[in-house]
Amino acid sequence: MRKFFRGTFLLISFGCHAQTSYLLKPDRVFDGQSMHENWAVWTQGNKIMAAGKAEDFPAESHQAQVIDLQGTTLLPGLIEGHSHLFLHPYNETSWNDQVLKEPRAYRTARAVKSAEQTLLAGFTTVRDLGTEGAEYDDVGLKKAIDEGIIPGPRMIVATRALIASGSYGPSGFSPDFVVPQGAEEADGHDDLIKAVRRQIGKGADVIKIYADYRWGPNGEARPTFSEDEIRLIVETARSSGRPVVAHASTAEGMRRAIMGGVETIEHGDGGTPEVWKLMKDKKVALCPTLAAGDAISQYRGWRKGQDPEPERLAEKRRNFKQALDAGVTMVMGGDVGVYSHGTNAREMVLMVDYGMKPLDVLKAATSGNARIFHQENRIGSIQKGLLADLVAVTGDPATAITDIEKVQLVMKDGKIYKKPE
Ligand SMILES: [Zn+2]
Repeated sequence: MRKFFRGTFLLISFGCHAQTSYLLKPDRVFDGQSMHENWAVWTQGNKIMAAGKAEDFPAESHQAQVIDLQGTTLLPGLIEGHSHLFLHPYNETSWNDQVLKEPRAYRTARAVKSAEQTLLAGFTTVRDLGTEGAEYDDVGLKKAIDEGIIPGPRMIVATRALIASGSYGPSGFSPDFVVPQGAEEADGHDDLIKAVRRQIGKGADVIKIYADYRWGPNGEARPTFSEDEIRLIVETARSSGRPVVAHASTAEGMRRAIMGGVETIEHGDGGTPEVWKLMKDKKVALCPTLAAGDAISQYRGWRKGQDPEPERLAEKRRNFKQALDAGVTMVMGGDVGVYSHGTNAREMVLMVDYGMKPLDVLKAATSGNARIFHQENRIGSIQKGLLADLVAVTGDPATAITDIEKVQLVMKDGKIYKKPE
């Protein structure tokens, strides 16, 4: 048996040398940490072989196919921190109707298209945080992408996500009906352990919980799981090597999630100075999803650029700045699906608009997200040995963040999906 494996390995490594090799020549390279003028990047097969001055590269790189990227900045493939490939914009179809009325095959057909749009926008990885009623279909979508059947980003999937019974939606129906929910209900010791393990067994890379939701007496957000329940979920997931992340927008929901051991807080609208300090101390990152709020306000009639900013957004702006000033680590993730897939960069533009430095936003969307998602040894930086996930954009997004939307080239796993004419 041993001999057989060795033989196979040799064959594979021989095959690698015959693989496509590229020498990419942009104006500058953002390697995940800082900007470098006049750098080039050499790839072979699915790996980055070298980054730096082209004249310092080994002679072998001279055989590579040269791609002239004059006028562009080359960056690591961007990482979306909070997507829902199985949702589409709420101004097209409400969330309730997507969950209750859209057939699963229809949702998958849309997800296939959305995955391609995401990749072509330069997002070579997504952390997809829940199918919202489409069961474990993210596992199948991921498999089809990984096998090269359809183009799409690498996926870190959450499958169904966990909710406390009675707390989520769709809601508002006669109590006589059992209404399908957008995530899996589970409570208490045995039930929660089983649900976490089941989701992991079916393919979840990460467990997502809703630590609070709009189920208060007046429809306001209130905590759901107890702190003990969250700790149990985290313990169960962690023993399999998987992290837990929490949707939370109340201070108490955030506090319970942080104390329970989650790694990231999604949304975090109700964060207070005490909560930010706790997040910093416990090294819990915030995924602010600014673009979701921005989109929903526009769906409700706000004419961006003409009307004054709605109070909800002004508050989010203050809240984001407060977290930033408190030293909380930011995930770049917008809750895309609420708005169109392929416009993921809206979150990056808003992060700058709300007070973050462009270079810090570029870091968050590449090396930062890679580290927070435990992927730093594979992706998120332009560095010898890492996977060849690269994106080139016109201009320099470190000085004008909107340049990140001007995508010229997309490479994932050493394969080019989009390139300049
Ligand atoms: Zn979400």
